[in-house]
Amino acid sequence: MKLTLDSFCLKSGKLCKTCQKKMDSGEISEIDIEFGNLLIEAGKLNKFLADITLNRIIQTDKSYYLLMGKGDVEKMKRALPSMKLQIKAITNLPLYYLEKSKNKTKVLEDLFDPIAPLSHSVVMIPPEGDKELKIQFKRSDKENLKIDAEEASLITKTLFSMGSHFSFN
Ligand SMILES: [Zn+2]
Repeated sequence: MKLTLDSFCLKSGKLCKTCQKKMDSGEISEIDIEFGNLLIEAGKLNKFLADITLNRIIQTDKSYYLLMGKGDVEKMKRALPSMKLQIKAITNLPLYYLEKSKNKTKVLEDLFDPIAPLSHSVVMIPPEGDKELKIQFKRSDKENLKIDAEEASLITKTLFSMGSHFSFN
């Protein structure tokens, strides 16, 4: 199991230089320690969790997004029923599981599931010419999106190094 901190730091709660750096930069936070320990415990009951990777936990105002390795979202979902109470003890915010990928189409489909974006494209934003991802939806889907533009932008920034905005047709 590969987590956002090494297992020694997770178990002891005392951070090594590398993990402390991640903490100081905001890449990880207290939730990484709590959730990491929970996953180690869950792995004892659910052996199929042994080879999963948790790349990153992204926190927004409303939710947590867990970036998992390839094929690991399914494994997490299998283990979740046995982890419900422990997760509740950590946070009441919803947790979403995403597979880390460079494939924007796949990530966006997972992110907005069950609503599929019509398309996405990289656009330049004046005046600096910063790149941003423009994500298009059907106008009729506007009310049903569970993720707002600000949240989505935070996630695309982490995954693709560019913010994003919505457009409705
Ligand atoms: Zn460490």
